[in-house]
Amino acid sequence: MNKRLAGAHLTIDLGALQANYRLLADKAAPAECAASVKADAYGLGIEAVGPALYAAGCRRFFVALPDEGITLRRLLPDVIIHILAGPLPEAEEIYLEHRLVPVLNSLADINRWAGFAAAKGKTLAALLHIDTGMTRLGLPEAEIQALAADPAPLKHLRIHFVMSHLAAADQPEHPMSAEQRNRLLALRRLLPPPLDSAPLSLANSAGVFLGPDYHFDMVRPGIALYGGNPQPGHPNPMREVVRLKGRILQVADVDSEIPVGYGATYRTGKPARIATVSVGYADGYLRALGNRAECAAGSVRVPVIGRVSMDMITVDVSKAPADACKPGDFVDLIGGAIPLDEVASHAGTISYEILTSLGRRFHRDYVTAAG
Ligand SMILES: *Cc1c(COP(=O)(O)O)cnc(C)c1O
Repeated sequence: MNKRLAGAHLTIDLGALQANYRLLADKAAPAECAASVKADAYGLGIEAVGPALYAAGCRRFFVALPDEGITLRRLLPDVIIHILAGPLPEAEEIYLEHRLVPVLNSLADINRWAGFAAAKGKTLAALLHIDTGMTRLGLPEAEIQALAADPAPLKHLRIHFVMSHLAAADQPEHPMSAEQRNRLLALRRLLPPPLDSAPLSLANSAGVFLGPDYHFDMVRPGIALYGGNPQPGHPNPMREVVRLKGRILQVADVDSEIPVGYGATYRTGKPARIATVSVGYADGYLRALGNRAECAAGSVRVPVIGRVSMDMITVDVSKAPADACKPGDFVDLIGGAIPLDEVASHAGTISYEILTSLGRRFHRDYVTAAG
């Protein structure tokens, strides 16, 4: 999208992304640091994010679905790519062609992938996912026992890691993380050899910050790479990657108490100066942000007033310097004085949803700031 024609400018700082990768990798060392780049790298664009992480040293990537893996393979010919959804039926040949390594989430996955390996006369790589309390994907204990009773399929497989996923790592006080860690170790002991001593992976971003007990042999952060706070409510150790600025289309000086926006949910004070900014819920600026969020004109924080429209918001810029709030000027919507996690909390959601909702009609700039 042409910069002069766009209502909003999204800047993605690949230098900050790389610094975040290095911070996580240093923290997790000697464990390997993989990267979660599902959903188009959390909405930031896999085409830019994948190669930038590779340049920072990342050699193992997680995506949700095989199509995402195929896209990443085109960008990075010599990395390991894991498909979290598992080996989808009738897609096995495609996994092989693009060297996509599935996460086996059930006994059915194990049998399918091992059966395919046997038919090919090959030993195929995979991760084995066991459920320790998320109840989403992964082998439950009964399936682990069934596998121990009949380990034959495993002879066709090369299991890189046994993994599990933390449900509440973003709340460091939550007892569940320690329970899941213990359960992972206990369930691994039930696996048939040599898997009973297989390398382990448990930590997402928040798990990396739970400390070395949670790192095991490989960590797989996502949100922290992109600047989201891995432990909301605590100081954010990550560098800001995403900056969203919206264009002021019009400024109105009002001298009486008048309603603003759909439903007339806000009435101005008097006098007031109201700026209309060219971003709306169609751009992922969630409707829940109306009458709640703030944005920034220069360094001055100003409230979003009234409802969020499809293509616009209204902002009370009375307190901002008039020369920073003319039509054609830009206000910060995400980043700078307005942290990503604050926007998420004002919308009643998490940074992940803000990022993966970012719209398609922004002008996007990928920059590599010094340092
Ligand atoms: C998405 C995902 C991750 C990354 O999680 P973050 O919270 O973004 O760090 C790691 N592991 C699994 C299984 C995931 O689905």
